[in-house]
Amino acid sequence: MNLYNIKHPEEQVNFAQAVRQGLGKDQGLFFPENIPHLSNIDELLALPLVKRSQKILGALIGEEIPQAQLEQMVRNAFTFPAPIAKVEDNIYALELFHGPTLAFKDFGGRFMAQALATVRGDGKITILTATSGDTGAAVAHAFYGLENIDVVILYPKGKISPLQEKLFCTLGGNIRTIAINADFDACQALVKQAFDDAELRQAIGLNSANSINISRLLAQVCYYFEAAAQLPKEQRENLVVSVPSGNFGNLTAGLIAKTLGLPIKRFIAATNANDTVPRYLHSGNWSPNATVATLSNAMDVSRPNNWPRVEELFKRNGWALTELHSAAISDAQTEDTLRAMNQLGYLCEPHGAVAYEVLKQDLQPGETGLFLCTAHPAKFKESVERILDLTLPLPEALDKHNKLPLLSDEMENDFAQLRAYLLK
Ligand SMILES: *Cc1c(COP(=O)(O)O)cnc(C)c1O
Repeated sequence: MNLYNIKHPEEQVNFAQAVRQGLGKDQGLFFPENIPHLSNIDELLALPLVKRSQKILGALIGEEIPQAQLEQMVRNAFTFPAPIAKVEDNIYALELFHGPTLAFKDFGGRFMAQALATVRGDGKITILTATSGDTGAAVAHAFYGLENIDVVILYPKGKISPLQEKLFCTLGGNIRTIAINADFDACQALVKQAFDDAELRQAIGLNSANSINISRLLAQVCYYFEAAAQLPKEQRENLVVSVPSGNFGNLTAGLIAKTLGLPIKRFIAATNANDTVPRYLHSGNWSPNATVATLSNAMDVSRPNNWPRVEELFKRNGWALTELHSAAISDAQTEDTLRAMNQLGYLCEPHGAVAYEVLKQDLQPGETGLFLCTAHPAKFKESVERILDLTLPLPEALDKHNKLPLLSDEMENDFAQLRAYLLK
């Protein structure tokens, strides 16, 4: 697989290099030089998830990874289902939250971990990251148990919810977690300092397992096929997909699926009040505002870092950006929508509700709508319980960890101390 840096197309790498490096020169994003058009879509849709995903990823990645090895990677990564649920006659939810950390980032995170373990080369690897809660959990679970990869996660002591803390600070093994006596920004600054320390970086093979890593996107392509495979055949035509968007990685993956030949009529980019993209698509002006906090906080992004990949795909495919529909939903609308969905018998959380609401506004007669549910309602327990006036039971995945003892170390906001800890 050949990829180029969108900012500097002369910088070209293979899959292994793109996975190891994450980003190109000047923070440029890597993008596949060639996305094949698959002619056997119906055959693919008839296969089970793991086998089908291996074929899709094999077509994208090519010879660089032997098929048997790729199959094992997919098998290790996709250990949970992505079912669809019928919400209305012509509207389905794609539930991407049945993984170990109850959010769709498990798909990309787990495949990235497998990819990195496969292309790592010799030498030690240490994944170092700071978290304000959710990303840490996804990274910890994705890399848990992988040989010769150490993971160190910093988080602000006392500033994440006890349940969030339990989810990733109870694993042990190759996962070490440090509660820093400071805020999240200080944790991020410590991580940055570590990456700026060339000697340290070399000594422990520092890697960021960055959210922009191409392997994440490739993995996410697979669940769009999984959704289509589960739809009744007559509803696979005229399919419109609504994606709750923050950094626009999820949408990029959907557009790659369409480029591969998956028949999706149109995509909808749904956002919360952080509406840089819908405003851009309507006015042609790219003018990010300050980021505001919303109920769907995983989408509180005003400078979406995958947007250049979206534009690149539209340009290369000769698609008009006007074909991408987009709208923003306020918190008040999100609350109303959650209640309306609950009336229909579907329990959702704020991110999925944003996608559903924009889909409702956009869907035309004769079309089938699919919206992506990116998190389990229990992940947003406080807001869902308040808005719907109900009590949510703790899902098994959370309950299991909730009963285990915390294994975190504690540390002051002191780089010298962190450095010694990492070198030990
Ligand atoms: C990360 C995240 C999103 C946004 O996905 P992008 O790929 O960044 O657009 C949406 N919902 C949830 C629950 C998330 O964690």
